[in-house]
Amino acid sequence: MAARNPKAAPAVEENLPQPRRSVAFIGSECYPFVKTGGLGDVMYALPKALVKQNCDVRVIIPRYKCIPEKYQEKMVYRGAFSMDLCADGKSFYVGIMEYVWDGVVYDFIDNDEFFSWGNPYTNLVDDIPKFCYFAKASLAALNYLNWTPDIIHCHDWQAALVPVFQQAMFGGTPVAGAKSILTIHNLRFQGIYNVETLKYWTNLPDALFDYAVLKQNWVDANMLKAGLSYASIITTVSDTYAGEIQTPFYGDGLDAHLRFHNRKLRGIVNGIDVEQWNPATDALLSANYSEKDAVAKKRENKLALQRELGLEENADKMVLGLISRLTDQKGLDLVNAIIPNVIDGNTQVIVLGTGDRKYEDSFRYYENAYKGSVCSCIMYDEARAHKIYAASDAMLVPSLFEPCGLTQLIAMRYGTVPIVRETGGLKDTVQPYNEFTNEGNGFTFDRYEQGLLLDAINRAKTLYFTDRARWDEMVIRDLRKDVSWDSSAKKYRDLYVELKP
Ligand code: ADP
Repeated sequence: MAARNPKAAPAVEENLPQPRRSVAFIGSECYPFVKTGGLGDVMYALPKALVKQNCDVRVIIPRYKCIPEKYQEKMVYRGAFSMDLCADGKSFYVGIMEYVWDGVVYDFIDNDEFFSWGNPYTNLVDDIPKFCYFAKASLAALNYLNWTPDIIHCHDWQAALVPVFQQAMFGGTPVAGAKSILTIHNLRFQGIYNVETLKYWTNLPDALFDYAVLKQNWVDANMLKAGLSYASIITTVSDTYAGEIQTPFYGDGLDAHLRFHNRKLRGIVNGIDVEQWNPATDALLSANYSEKDAVAKKRENKLALQRELGLEENADKMVLGLISRLTDQKGLDLVNAIIPNVIDGNTQVIVLGTGDRKYEDSFRYYENAYKGSVCSCIMYDEARAHKIYAASDAMLVPSLFEPCGLTQLIAMRYGTVPIVRETGGLKDTVQPYNEFTNEGNGFTFDRYEQGLLLDAINRAKTLYFTDRARWDEMVIRDLRKDVSWDSSAKKYRDLYVELKP
């Protein structure tokens, strides 16, 4: 046997793209520790994909009390220090707990005063100080750990003050040398509060409380706006959304600010973790499947879920799924308006979500009104979500606005045909079905109107009930579609190298 050269790098590393880049991800949630929506998925899946792109990634999130014990007990204490924060000189404890998993280092910022609540988000009165603290503590932790990344990649308003603190207060320290990226996952949430409170909790210089940075109107300060001013690059999670947010309708008051900064604004579409979401191995499904047996096995999953949820057990019924936060953003007023027209004796609707009372109540009402045909699961339940993705024939995502949207990507991964409004990432990821060429991945509609959603559902029903062979071909096309992070992770990597050649 030939002797091994101990100095030779493993073969796999030779194939990694060069140069290696180091990145600190800073954000407010990360699956599986804590997740309330798509941001949690991205904070988990993108770092993993970047490791394969030769990136050294550290994820920094708060150590909330609600993080399950099985993760808390694996965390290792890395150190603690005291950090000045407030205008009156009040300082706070910053603890760092660490957990290394799948090539990614997770650092949890520990402070009982801020993170002792069950949920990551409570109300703005508490959340504003919490995330002022978190943004500054994350930078201080990087210096404390003596780990200076090439790139600091911040996510949404909760981490938006990171580039601002970095330049205003960390000059001359190691972390000052890093370039910053701020990714907008949802422009609806900006971290707006009155100037006096923000001045107190940040102690940032008065000069920053002007219209170019923090000031929003006469009395308010806007944390996201400040981050957009100071970040080296702004990204958002689809090309279409990058264009939309520069218009008044989608801009949520920041459209002019984003137009001003649009030279540094890019759109990079999200992917999903195709190991976490894999119908061939998903232990939560009644029957696993791949392209070869998807059509038959999806029927098995459908029957099992119908039984579990008390729906009429019949695999020939068309099942429409809806998995969503129940808020106005998700187009639920359209869904509510048309459910009576959708339920026709051959169609079932399964809803999974929590959120606004008015939607929770209306979906409960429909479950009662159409017993056996409508099931409303008013809860947050990962396991049930997996089963609904596998068992449904089509997935409804009729959003008013949708920065990227993950439900349509997960649906396609499970061979479930998305029915979406052409906005944001929904437009970029779902190619409308073309009956003449037999191409496309789903059914789409453009204007935000209930009639157009109903029309899209009816087009889907027509294909499903009158030309099942073509429907099944679309199921297979969706299963084959690449919804992984691979190509988008490469784009992020290219951006990191562009910022730090
Ligand atoms: P958003 O981030 O706006 O909530 P996305 O489509 O980007 O929407 O991501 C939603 C994620 O949250 C998906 O992974 C979806 O499966 C999951 N999800 C939403 N509601 C629920 C729920 N009630 N139970 C389980 N998972 C849910």
